[in-house]
Amino acid sequence: MCGIVAYIGTREAYPVILKGLKRLEYRGYDSSGVALLNGGLKVYKKKGKVAELEESLQGVDLHANIGIGHTRWATHGEPSDRNAHPHTSASGKLAMIHNGIIENYAQLKQELIKKGYVFHSDTDTEVLLNFIEDIQKNNNCPLEEAVRIALKRIVGAYVIVLIDNENPETLIAARKGSPLVIGIGKNEHFLASDASPIIEYTKEVVYVNDYEIAIIKPDELILKNLGNERQTPFITKLDMELAAIEKGGYDHFMLKEIFEQPQTIFDCLRGRLDADAGTITMSGIEKYADEIIAANRIVMVACGTSWHAGLVAEYIFEELCRINVEVEYASEFRYRNPVINKGDVIIAISQSGETADTLVAIENAKQKGAIILGVVNVVGSSIARASHAGAYTHAGPEIGVASTKAFTAQLAVLTMIALKIGYKKGTLNHDRYLQLLKELDAIPDKVASILQSTEAIQAIAEKYKDAPSSLFLGRGYNFPVALEGALKLKEISYIHAEGYPAAEMKHGPIALVDESLPVVFIATRDSFHEKVISNMQEIKARKGKIIAVINEGDEQSLS
Ligand code: GLU
Repeated sequence: MCGIVAYIGTREAYPVILKGLKRLEYRGYDSSGVALLNGGLKVYKKKGKVAELEESLQGVDLHANIGIGHTRWATHGEPSDRNAHPHTSASGKLAMIHNGIIENYAQLKQELIKKGYVFHSDTDTEVLLNFIEDIQKNNNCPLEEAVRIALKRIVGAYVIVLIDNENPETLIAARKGSPLVIGIGKNEHFLASDASPIIEYTKEVVYVNDYEIAIIKPDELILKNLGNERQTPFITKLDMELAAIEKGGYDHFMLKEIFEQPQTIFDCLRGRLDADAGTITMSGIEKYADEIIAANRIVMVACGTSWHAGLVAEYIFEELCRINVEVEYASEFRYRNPVINKGDVIIAISQSGETADTLVAIENAKQKGAIILGVVNVVGSSIARASHAGAYTHAGPEIGVASTKAFTAQLAVLTMIALKIGYKKGTLNHDRYLQLLKELDAIPDKVASILQSTEAIQAIAEKYKDAPSSLFLGRGYNFPVALEGALKLKEISYIHAEGYPAAEMKHGPIALVDESLPVVFIATRDSFHEKVISNMQEIKARKGKIIAVINEGDEQSLS
């Protein structure tokens, strides 16, 4: 995820781009940059927020009527000035911004290095840019043609926008998988990741489709598909307020992030999980696979929601890998002088990668000889740097304070690690491995289908919104999910909630159950299902109000 803005027309490009980048900062904020064309190509980039770029450009002559800008959320290469976008091609004549991930960048990079290309960043973006330039050079063709040829070989997701010093009247853009909106003005065009940078200038926009290339001049917009056929731009009228657009039409960032999950889980699996080939590619984990297999124990260290992800992973690792797993609150682990032996594997889980307790805990464990693996969302964050290896969750920035999409992305990564290790170790047989890969691959679609019918969920919320307290129950994998559900309710609704293993109810808490208490069961059909249904009966007998999350068609739970 990241924010892109571009302008071509008669206005000053820089102020339009700068304002647009500030509006798109929710999409990424680790670094930003602009490239402007005015009798030469000028590129300015800065680590940090857009305001820092702005500050660094005080007093610089930025006059130009064409330019591109980017606010980054790193996926390849740590946040830094040199990894910030726009990137410049080897010849220095092209500059490009990119939102997305080029999955086959490593192979393309090798090919280009063999041809003598030198890279000045660690990004996949610079690879794609030089790949395009190389094609243009070899075929002596227009840039648009080179982009088309290049994109046919690209695996991954992108919006790209290029400016060309030798053709200063044209922007070239293309899209697959990431969003691109083009605003149409009088003798001017505005490009952005969403409509928020555009809405104050024009209400007429074109949403570019996947596999389309846009050739944009001040007074002309041409759309073509990758087969070089002209497409008719479909112009729509914006009728939203600015604030609504920034939140993608949702009332809150948290809601937006919940609805992003099919995409974020997909992004997390993309380029790693190949269910048909039966492979999971995670180079950091591969490097330490032997040590993980030989480990006496794995300790998951985390806080809050990430700690719940660690608890779910405990069940998964123990089942698939038959390795002893412990899950620790970083804040406790850090202060209590835990026993750590050489060869222990610590998995640190954190959305931001900056959770102070987790960071100190892993630094202590590292000194004692443990192997540290990081499962974090923010590339180049402190925990990522302090880890020996790891895997990023690629969930994009999480603005909502209560974690949602980061949790499911963590589960996706942890599950892939467990599958990889279990299969390599031999505790997971081939057929079951393949079956689980397919199941994991199907998750984004399943999440999407649940999010399509939220009326029932809304009706339940409406009915129980005034309850002073509630319980969340589950067994097995669903116990930590129940804990996470209770945490979310507390954080968001200020309603007291407790998560409990369903079978533990009878040892005390059941005394609290009466007709005023909503009890949420996470009761999906697994090996505990029969037992969970018995636990439901216990609640029913005390007139508790049961809300159950169950499989479609599960009549037994409804009885
Ligand atoms: N993969 C690119 C990078 O890491 C773009 C990331 C983004 O979408 O912000 O620079």
